[in-house]
Amino acid sequence: EAKSAGRNRFAVYDSALEVRFLERRAMVEDLPNAVSNRELSVYLQPKVDLATATPTGFEALVRWQRAGRLTPPDEFVQVAEETGMIQRIDRYVLDEATRAVAQWNMLHETAYAVSVNLSGLHFTSSRLVDWVREALEVSGLRADLLTLEITETVQLRDWKLTGQILAQLRALGVRISIDDFGTGYSSLAYLRAIMADELKIDRSLVTQIDAPGQARMLFASVLDIARTMELDVVVEGVETADQVAVLTSFGVKTVQGFYFGRPAPMAQALRQAMETPATGDTAPRIAS
Ligand code: C2E
Ligand code: MG
Ligand code: MG
Ligand code: MG
Repeated sequence: EAKSAGRNRFAVYDSALEVRFLERRAMVEDLPNAVSNRELSVYLQPKVDLATATPTGFEALVRWQRAGRLTPPDEFVQVAEETGMIQRIDRYVLDEATRAVAQWNMLHETAYAVSVNLSGLHFTSSRLVDWVREALEVSGLRADLLTLEITETVQLRDWKLTGQILAQLRALGVRISIDDFGTGYSSLAYLRAIMADELKIDRSLVTQIDAPGQARMLFASVLDIARTMELDVVVEGVETADQVAVLTSFGVKTVQGFYFGRPAPMAQALRQAMETPATGDTAPRIAS
């Protein structure tokens, strides 16, 4: 009797855990078929030049339409990393995004850039280099228009190999970006080791900069670090006009966030980018 009372006491907790466990197991089972069943799609979110309020490129973000519901990446990327599926997923996104943006650039004589997220897990083998080379060849995208965002959800361990892979990627002419700076494993040591071209300042460092105070000072310090290291800065998660004003006063060039545009299906995002701002034709042009 004491035993069953004990069980009841934890019933709520247990069932919540069980739901999570079952969801996770379903994801583990469904993920391998997600690519072949064409359940994955790619959305693009504009990266905007603050001075002109014009998109200069996009970040590719994976979406999983599963059983009539959109499963957000935050829910399945980690599972995909644990089960080794993330490589296939990232390669799919890389191929799709480079193809769509290169094709758009060709048809419209634009020079939009595209950023693709890569799990830290790719840095355990040099297959990634072949995949990137192939994506550039197949799509015809100019190498300097491709940025690889390293999302450090998995701690990079093998620094020798990671360094070699990064050097090979750099030799291809693509850009390297450090994603979510200010969270997780991303440290100053990491910043120095990666030798990136770009630093993406995480949304969590931006949310409270609209009022004077510690958050704004901390943000300014991070900006200083980025400038000291001669990194291009992209500020993520910009949602309000007040934030835009502060970022402008800090001389930030490139931003990303719901204020300027939400992630949208690729064709739609590309079309919308051509229409912003509503007047004038300000899409980045192929240098001729
Ligand atoms: P991330 O790379 O930092 O991408 C930015 C995330 O912030 C996206 O969430 C985007 O929709 C969201 N976001 C953009 N602007 C705003 C804003 O103004 N406010 C708020 N609240 N959110 C904003 P999403 O698409 O759900 O992706 C979440 C994370 O999942 C990404 O963070 C990235 O780490 C990972 N991810 C997404 N796609 C891929 C992929 O193809 N491969 C890998 N390895 N990871 C991916
Ligand atoms: Mg990213
Ligand atoms: Mg980020
Ligand atoms: Mg993130």
